[in-house]
Amino acid sequence: MTTQVPPRLTTTAGAPVTDNQNSLSAGPRGPLLMQDWQLLEKLAHQNRERIPERVVHAKGWGAHGTLKITGDISHLTCAKALQPDAETPLILRFSTVAGELGAADHERDVRGFAIKFYTEEGNWDLVGNNTPIFFVRDPLKFPDFIHTQKRHPRTNLRSATAMWDFWSLSPETLHQVTILFSDRGLPVSPMHMNGYGSHTFSLLNDAGERVWVKFHFKTRQGHRHYTNAEAVEVVGQTREGYQEALFAAIEAGEFPQWTMQVQIMTESQAETFPFNPFDLTKVWPHADFPVTDIGTLELNRNADNYFMEIEQLAMSPSNVVPGIGFSPDRMLQGRIFSYADAHRYRLGTHYEALPVNRPVCPVHNYHKDGAMRFLPPDTNPDAYYEPNSFAGPVETPSFREPPLPLDGPADRYDHRDGNDDFIQPRALFELFDEGQKARLCANIAAAMRTVPDAIAQRQIALFTRVHPEYGAGVQSARETLAKEG
Ligand code: NDP
Repeated sequence: MTTQVPPRLTTTAGAPVTDNQNSLSAGPRGPLLMQDWQLLEKLAHQNRERIPERVVHAKGWGAHGTLKITGDISHLTCAKALQPDAETPLILRFSTVAGELGAADHERDVRGFAIKFYTEEGNWDLVGNNTPIFFVRDPLKFPDFIHTQKRHPRTNLRSATAMWDFWSLSPETLHQVTILFSDRGLPVSPMHMNGYGSHTFSLLNDAGERVWVKFHFKTRQGHRHYTNAEAVEVVGQTREGYQEALFAAIEAGEFPQWTMQVQIMTESQAETFPFNPFDLTKVWPHADFPVTDIGTLELNRNADNYFMEIEQLAMSPSNVVPGIGFSPDRMLQGRIFSYADAHRYRLGTHYEALPVNRPVCPVHNYHKDGAMRFLPPDTNPDAYYEPNSFAGPVETPSFREPPLPLDGPADRYDHRDGNDDFIQPRALFELFDEGQKARLCANIAAAMRTVPDAIAQRQIALFTRVHPEYGAGVQSARETLAKEG
């Protein structure tokens, strides 16, 4: 309730609306009149209230916040947002991957952990997940993988058979499958999980020297997870548990925080590292590449309008700033194309000019016109092409990155060659205590329940190659489930 004088209701063109309860009709029984523009506009707007939902990461929750740099990596990067004591505003969107916009929040799934930093040198988007790795290492496999996570074309149901068929034929997925079905596959809320930039990026200093980097965000709220049974109970009561928890915490002033960390690898270390360091199915072991704390990420302001600030939020790994660059990570290279392309389709050509996506620094380019071109041109109107003689914006060669070290002829390499898919899931399995191992195996057995035996056995053979105890554990959990009927 408010005592404020309400503003005048208007059409989209600003004309006063005289009656918002009754359509204009040719008498009390109708019919309605074509000239009732207010009615036509209202109905037309309702038809257009939805935009295409994201094919992946459709269901999301987010908030505004700040990154404060407390460490010193100024010898490694000239990025202004990563200099000691820098404070950068940001917006973070969490999400599930597979579920549609209306999916329940508490589903077992990887979570997106995507951050847009509004730096004075342009927007830096770190579009990560709550896991340090991913299912596949080649973007050519990504659409197939996502098809297995989505609905079957005939039944329109999600298909456990498709998921396990694909996974059992793609051993590089073992590491992520192990994380997904472990305790951390079902966080209690977005506050109770880590975030990872996952890919390898470059850090570049003033001298143009490169090191490779991975970014981690460690929760300060502690890890909390639900078991499958607990999640079923929660979803029975609310399908919006993440939105409720995140929104309420921030409204109450309980601002969630994460410690930002980096792992650094030199170019020469990368050459001798036994794995391909740019393989997204692998971590860099902490013992070899220790983490360094460099800052604090805090969420401290809810969006005022969910659609404008969270649904229209558009992030892409293509958005880097001076001092941060890419790497030969194949998945990163694929996402550099596909994320920006998804937003052009979902939001339109000029999506970067929407308020939530708009950089805080000046933007000057020669892109012209197109649907929803609503930023005023801020340069000399004669300078609408380049090069020109009218003081139009010019390039900055000093920000040029050193070339990426590339080797070999262009070819379609079989990435399984020399790439062990078992050592790292084994290292993870060996970290688990007996209870964690038992829950992992039970979660997998439950998820495989309807899968044809030949596919299940092919997958169990892969688990056995990770660790005999892992394969035997899943087999035994499967038999227990079968006995229970
Ligand atoms: P460490 O013992 O140094 O670190 C283990 C890591 O595992 C910690 O970062 C921990 O996160 C994380 N972890 C614990 N439980 C789980 C889980 N259920 N799902 C995902 N991560 C979990 O080991 P190494 O660096 O030698 O790596 C061993 C294995 O740990 C890897 O094969 C990988 O599976 C996993 N891991 C490694 C990471 C890395 O960057 N090296 C990052 C995350 C996982 P926390 O610190 O928050 O407790």
